[in-house]
Amino acid sequence: MGSDRDEMAVVDPQTRVRGIDGLRIADGSIMPSIASSNLNAPIMMVGERASDLILGGPLLGPENVPFHRPLGAVQSLGEN
Ligand SMILES: Cc1cc2nc3c(=O)[nH]c(=O)nc-3n(C[C@H](O)[C@H](O)[C@H](O)COP(=O)(O)OP(=O)(O)OC[C@H]3O[C@@H](n4cnc5c(N)ncnc54)[C@H](O)[C@@H]3O)c2cc1C
Repeated sequence: MGSDRDEMAVVDPQTRVRGIDGLRIADGSIMPSIASSNLNAPIMMVGERASDLILGGPLLGPENVPFHRPLGAVQSLGEN
């Protein structure tokens, strides 16, 4: 996925395949760069966003939701 200036991008920011009418991609393959993390949740977000785009829904704002943080996780950030 990339902007109109990116000649290597297969899909545009609306998940539409360039050059083929009526075809979208909504999976891990459209991520602009290779991620080194668990991909399941971000890929579900790609699917949710793509469905919003198809339905014409607005971009949802950020939400503060609780999540599990392992003990010592904050302290270990930045340590070598
Ligand atoms: C062993 C393993 C463990 C993982 N563990 C985790 C984890 O713990 N946490 C995490 O976040 N992520 C994990 N992942 C990563 C995560 O599962 C994948 O990144 C994610 O499922 C990719 O989603 P996707 O929709 O892009 O592709 P996929 O889930 O691969 O879905 C692609 C679908 O397209 C179908 N398909 C393929 N070709 C065609 C065709 N020609 N026509 C029609 N259908 C087709 C396939 O059958 C498949 O159902 C793991 C991956 C693997 C391999």
